[in-house]
Amino acid sequence: MNLIDTHSHIYDEAFDDDRDAVVARAAEAGVATLMLPDIDSSSRERMFDLARKYPGMCLPMLGLHPTSVNDNPHWRDEIDQVERLLHEPPAERIYGIGETGLDLYWSSDFLAEQSEAMRAQIELAIEGDLPVVIHTRSAWEQMISLISDYKSRSLRGIFHAFAADVATYRRLRDCGDFVFGIGGVATFKNSRMEPVLQEIPLEQMVLETDAPYLTPVPFRGRRNESAYVTYVCQKVAEVKGISPDEVAERTTATARRIFRLG
Ligand SMILES: [Zn+2]
Repeated sequence: MNLIDTHSHIYDEAFDDDRDAVVARAAEAGVATLMLPDIDSSSRERMFDLARKYPGMCLPMLGLHPTSVNDNPHWRDEIDQVERLLHEPPAERIYGIGETGLDLYWSSDFLAEQSEAMRAQIELAIEGDLPVVIHTRSAWEQMISLISDYKSRSLRGIFHAFAADVATYRRLRDCGDFVFGIGGVATFKNSRMEPVLQEIPLEQMVLETDAPYLTPVPFRGRRNESAYVTYVCQKVAEVKGISPDEVAERTTATARRIFRLG
């Protein structure tokens, strides 16, 4: 099996004691590539350290997470830093912009700032011909409204940790070249995701863990890791009535297309 975990934060401190073992378990499980979404400057060096240690396997992105915008007085400097790192030669290859997005779960006070930060990052993505990795929590209406502005701008990207309904999927699908990141939530008994998993074609679907968060069944409640993307693959296969191998092959092709992995 050849899987890509399109969203893994295993540079997080939660893996400080056993990160190499976690990478090894991913490889053993057939997860050949781990895409690393950036959060902000506080964890960026750890992300690049991991990418340098596993070149060709752990592939970094650059961006500013919406919850790192909120009451951070320096969020504009953070965006400037992302832009500098994208342009400063000799740059490492950067595979995407993100994660960015809107997160109104903790507070809705920073919608304007999060939107401005997201729009700035979308411009960087378009300019660099990179996919944008989008985080959305308690903000689908605001997200659809924002992303609709880019319909004619040849933007591509991933709605990461997608767990919304069929109607939301259909509205987003028409906003650009977007694919949908399916993770551990799909395995939760109460997720009610079967209809949307049936509807999204594998050509618009990528698999992810969001490790260390959103751990799939049967490990729900424990730390997530990239090897567990196999459980997400299994679930999608069950719902679509096809083999896990076919899900792996076709979602990996989708990920390779969206990240331009050659
Ligand atoms: Zn994430």
